[in-house]
Amino acid sequence: MNDADSEVMGRLLEREGYGKVDFPEGADVIILNTCSVRQHAEDRALSYLASLKRVRKENPSTVFVLAGCVAQRLKSKIFEKTPFVNIVLGTDNILELPKLIEEAFQKPNEKVLATEVKGDLPKLAEGFWSSLSYGCAKNSELMGQVTIMRGCDNFCSYCIVPYVRGREKSKPVSDIVSEVEQKVADGCKEIMLLGQNVNSYRSNSSDFADLLREVEKVNGLERIRFMTSHPKDVSEKLINTIRDSSKICEHLHLPAQSGSNRILEGMNRGYTRQQYLELIDKIKREIPKISVTTDLMVGFPGEKKEDFEDTLRLVEDVEFDAAFTFKYSARPGTQAAKEKDDVPLETKKERLAELNELCEKMVLEKNRRLLGKVEEVMVERFARKEKKLVGRTRGNKRVFFSGDGKDIGELLPVEIEKAYTWSLLGRVR
Ligand code: SF4
Repeated sequence: MNDADSEVMGRLLEREGYGKVDFPEGADVIILNTCSVRQHAEDRALSYLASLKRVRKENPSTVFVLAGCVAQRLKSKIFEKTPFVNIVLGTDNILELPKLIEEAFQKPNEKVLATEVKGDLPKLAEGFWSSLSYGCAKNSELMGQVTIMRGCDNFCSYCIVPYVRGREKSKPVSDIVSEVEQKVADGCKEIMLLGQNVNSYRSNSSDFADLLREVEKVNGLERIRFMTSHPKDVSEKLINTIRDSSKICEHLHLPAQSGSNRILEGMNRGYTRQQYLELIDKIKREIPKISVTTDLMVGFPGEKKEDFEDTLRLVEDVEFDAAFTFKYSARPGTQAAKEKDDVPLETKKERLAELNELCEKMVLEKNRRLLGKVEEVMVERFARKEKKLVGRTRGNKRVFFSGDGKDIGELLPVEIEKAYTWSLLGRVR
């Protein structure tokens, strides 16, 4: 989401004649777009911001903007911590950025706090979002990101998102389709539809499956991905839509967070371990090639050894294709932050290490099952170190293989010859 927001901010400023520079020292404006999903992310953002004080000293006219969820959460406290910041820009205020920067140049000594979380998406002229689209994402000019909704209504007890990004707001289907069309016209072949909980997307009478079917009609688009899905909102209609589509990749990121019913209830996740497992069974029955990835958290308040073991068993039962694992950290203002953070840091670290070890073992086993199989791979680019081409399977696995680069952007059949935990090695058939 932050990548996509940064893209929008960059485009807005380009329209005003700004261009990117390679180093902060050469910038007239410095924007730090931040994440506060965990304390660690927030600490890193603030420490980097503090390190930029030297730039302010060297160039007093530089305008500093702190944007994103940390800005939204800390609001005017940012000015106390880092007085050289000119603008604190909340997550719903990014369209105001060019105007606020111009004002900051006019009145360099004024502090601007723009952190109003809005109830609705702004009413904008048709084609506005597509006019802000770049044809590229971070890693490849072939892959684009399109935000389809903002905010979240789920209020998982540990999560700061509903507080810093507000309630769920979906973009109209026509805006999303025209944004995808623009990206495809600019050279994208794969689109990632983004939202905190994409499968609760709703615009007028259209749900997420309806949206996917509309996006699928875009000529020239070859692959569709989306992120993130909430397990409680994966409908049969969505499963069938993925099953029946040739463009929607067989990959679902389905954060489980925990395998313990007691902890899932404390997290307010809205499903039980059994319901999660039944959902996975149903998905695998309909889409046998599905790749399922997940997020898992250890050390949630009250997590006992038995709860953690339930999470380990869940990993074994589901056989995830990848897992993003985290230690719980209390986010001030959330429901869970009112509970005692009673799992000692050492225990959290030990559990995380044990969980990672198991996940890596399971992922490697899963990858080995691909040996000898031929996977459709989108050729993305030359890998930096390996002197090989790199691409992704429909299941979102990274594959390295030899080639001269003429096929970059193409979908090629690649036979898998070696399997590692985080990548595969193959040969074009
Ligand atoms: S679904 Fe839960 S974890 Fe995900 S963004 Fe919403 S509140 Fe946060």
